[in-house]
Amino acid sequence: MAIRAVVWGENIHDRENAVVQGIYPRGMHGAIADALNDDPDIEATTATLEQTEHGLTADRLASTDVLTWWGHRAHGQVRDEIVDRVAERVWQGMGLIVLHSGHFSKIFRKLMGTPCALKWREAGEKERVWVINPGHPIARGLDASFVVPQTEMYGEPFVVPEPMETVFISWYDGGEVFRSGLTFQRGAGRIFYFSPGHEVYPIYHDKNVRQVLRNAVKWAANPAPAWSTVSQAQNVPTEKAPEPLVQRGPSLHASGEAGFR
Ligand code: ZN
Repeated sequence: MAIRAVVWGENIHDRENAVVQGIYPRGMHGAIADALNDDPDIEATTATLEQTEHGLTADRLASTDVLTWWGHRAHGQVRDEIVDRVAERVWQGMGLIVLHSGHFSKIFRKLMGTPCALKWREAGEKERVWVINPGHPIARGLDASFVVPQTEMYGEPFVVPEPMETVFISWYDGGEVFRSGLTFQRGAGRIFYFSPGHEVYPIYHDKNVRQVLRNAVKWAANPAPAWSTVSQAQNVPTEKAPEPLVQRGPSLHASGEAGFR
């Protein structure tokens, strides 16, 4: 069965800014979904902020293997209830690809637990993305480095936890560097952050960037059944311990009592 990907887009600049509209007539989410659907092993659909429940109903998320997230101007308009729902699915095993200005999204900050701040500059400068982990599945099919001709600079320090793996480091005309491709794991869910993707340049039409997106979705898809109890504390009564165990000393709870400690 194909990997079921949902491409989430804020869809604001895509509708309101003429430059962005010219580059992405069907929205950035449309272009990203097209890139994913170029691979027969991926079946990508889209969801946007203005839809009911931001297009991310519990049923839809339950049948999503990997969610990609692009947001910029309206992070604050994403309802906390939906953010919690997405986080729960990530902990259960859904993959999450966070793109560009999604570094400041509620979902990414919640899962990282850090400010996720960085330096930035919008000068249309060149970015060279270095593959520093050529054996990583997300780097499959790429050369040692590739160039994004015009980009928004994102620079270090990037205030995220130490990643599981650093796949890409970017260098810019202006001299800064940035860890542009990072992997994390939260619960059973794999997370990939990828920085290229500023909306006024045609970055999601770039063949290398599109390759990274497809690779990332395939890497983040977890074929194991959802870990449905991931956020539930489960009491193991003394008499049900795997090894014989004698109760010693006082206890706050009656043996076998369910619920929170
Ligand atoms: Zn940007």
